[in-house]
Amino acid sequence: MTRREALTVLAAGSISGGRASAAGAIIRTVLKDLPPEALAGGATLFHEHLSLAPDFMPKWIGLARGQPPQPVQSDKPYFMRDADLMAEEVRAAAREGVACLVDGGHPDMGRDLDFLKRLSKQSGMPIVAGCGYYSQPFYPPEIATMTEDQITQELVRQARTQPVGAFGEIGSWDEITDLERKVFRAVGKAHLQTNLPIFTHTGIPGKSAIEQLDILEAAGVKPQRVAIGHVGNLVDPKVDVHKALCKRGAFIGFDRQGGPGDARQVPMVVALIDAGYADNLLFSSDLSTANQLKSNGGAGYAKTVTVFAPKLRQAGVKEETLHGILVDNPRRFLAFTPKN
Ligand SMILES: [Zn+2]
Repeated sequence: MTRREALTVLAAGSISGGRASAAGAIIRTVLKDLPPEALAGGATLFHEHLSLAPDFMPKWIGLARGQPPQPVQSDKPYFMRDADLMAEEVRAAAREGVACLVDGGHPDMGRDLDFLKRLSKQSGMPIVAGCGYYSQPFYPPEIATMTEDQITQELVRQARTQPVGAFGEIGSWDEITDLERKVFRAVGKAHLQTNLPIFTHTGIPGKSAIEQLDILEAAGVKPQRVAIGHVGNLVDPKVDVHKALCKRGAFIGFDRQGGPGDARQVPMVVALIDAGYADNLLFSSDLSTANQLKSNGGAGYAKTVTVFAPKLRQAGVKEETLHGILVDNPRRFLAFTPKN
């Protein structure tokens, strides 16, 4: 590395393409700040859900289908409110090679920070909590009347008073709306004041992915601190949008993996690795429904590692490359030097 490259890298706050983070950078989990090296022993899954409100997914599925919210099943306790069940699921993920889980929820999705802390204590799994606002259909009503600066201040307040380690998932539900643009600009400004990394949600199929990065970059955020999410949904063998995002330095998320959709994403991941973008890739599963749990016969929280990764190996992806994507990239993405 030349001196000029080294300086650029230091300015970005991490060693891009390398395997380490800048001195002093930490990963903020709900229980304590960790040095990134503490999570070198396994995969960090950068976009999962461990705490959602019981009515969140029924509303989500209804909106996605253009129907009213589905009825909430109330015959048994909702799994994301059952700490014992969830601790067992999370311990199983640890046994299968997961070193850290990032929860992409926040208050407008019913995320409960105390539940995440209890779950982390009970299971021993380091958990990173996100914060922010999800997408327009889920915003609290005051978002419509708050100014961009008021939203920024609120985000900074959350980041400074709560043990949160990222802004995410910050979303646009469909094509991005004016209200969502306002929130994205506010998140960008809040990042400048706190240094928290940002991960996003794009509507199927990867709608407004480029504009999300445009807005954040225009607010002063370095693309290296951003992960544009759900771009696996944008099925394109040429991976044009994916490459454009990577070329600018952003991370991109193949973050609904470990299921039947994998077959469409494996060739895209291979194409991106072949194009030299392995350091920009992040994998996760966005687990959010009970049928995916081990206790219900599903593959559980480790399915990115146990179901998706083997398909990539079979497609010829080298072990070293997979290790870089699953273990090193998310730590480089999450590590930040706190700003007060
Ligand atoms: Zn999610």
